[in-house]
Amino acid sequence: SKYIVVTGGVVSSIGKGITAASIGRILRSYGIDVTAIKIDPYLNWDSGTLNPYQHGEVFVTEDGMETDLDLGHYERFLDVELSGDSNITTGKVYSSVIDKERKGDYLGSCVQIIPHITDEIKSMIRKISSKSDADVVLVEIGGTVGDIESQPFLEAVRQLRNEEGHDNVMFVHVTYVPYLNAAGEFKTKPTQHSTKELRSTGIIPDMIICRSELSIDAPLKQKIAHFCDVERNAVINCPDVSSIYEVPLILSKENVGEYVLKRLKMESRQPDLKDW
Ligand code: ADP
Repeated sequence: SKYIVVTGGVVSSIGKGITAASIGRILRSYGIDVTAIKIDPYLNWDSGTLNPYQHGEVFVTEDGMETDLDLGHYERFLDVELSGDSNITTGKVYSSVIDKERKGDYLGSCVQIIPHITDEIKSMIRKISSKSDADVVLVEIGGTVGDIESQPFLEAVRQLRNEEGHDNVMFVHVTYVPYLNAAGEFKTKPTQHSTKELRSTGIIPDMIICRSELSIDAPLKQKIAHFCDVERNAVINCPDVSSIYEVPLILSKENVGEYVLKRLKMESRQPDLKDW
C-alpha cells in the first residue's frame, strides 16, 4: 500500500477527519481502494469512557470496538467497513508494548520510545495495510502538531516514509487561515508557524490544505506556497461549507486528486465520476 498521512496545525477541530475522508473519497472515484486509520494520541485505550460533550459521539465498529467518531466519517465517505484496529491510541500502543515486555519479548533491551514504541506504531499501521489489501491507507494523526502526545506518532510516520520510500508516503498538513475583520485581511502566519513546527519533526509536508471561513485568493495561496515551501498547486483551500458532503467536491475542484496521484506515482488512473 501507499500511505497518505494527514496532520493538523494551528487549532484543533479544523476538520482534519472530514478532509482526510474527502481525499479518500476522491481517490475512490479513480477506482483506488482506500482504507483509513485514525490515530488518537490520548492514553485512553479506546473512546468508550470519553465525555461525548468534549469528544463527540462514540462510533462502534462492526467488531464491537468503541472508537473515535472520525471512523464513522471514513465508513460513510469511503463506503468501507473498518475494524477496531483502525483506531490506534497511545493507550493501545503502550499496553501492547508493556505486554510484550512482560512476556520477555525484548529480553536484554532497555524498552524505549524509539525504537520500541515507534516500531509498535508502525506495525499497527502496517497490520491494517496488509489486512485490508487497500491501494492507499489514509493515516490521520489526531491533535495538533506540537502537542507532546503526538510526537511518537510523528516520529513513527517519519520513519515510515524512509522505510516505504518517497513515492509511497505523502504528507498532507491541514491548517487554519484566519480572517481579521478589522484589518480586512487573511493571515498566513499561523500556517507558516505550524508548518515550521511540523518540519522540526523531520516531516516535510507535500500538500497544505487551508481551512478558512471564506475562500482565499490566488496571491495568498502563492504566498503560502512560497513561505511553506510546497508547490503552488499543492496549496489547497477548503472554506466552510453548509454540508460536509460538499467537501469532496470542493477538494476535487482544487485538483487534489491529480496532485495526490502524481505525487504517489499513480497517475495512470482515470476518474469515474458517474457515482458522484
Ligand atoms: P478534526 O478531525 O480536525 O478534529 P473534524 O473533521 O472532526 O475535525 O471536524 C470538526 C467539525 O468541523 C465537524 O463538526 C465537521 O462537521 C466540521 N467541518 C469540517 N470541515 C468543514 C467544512 N469545510 N465546512 C464546514 N464544516 C466543516
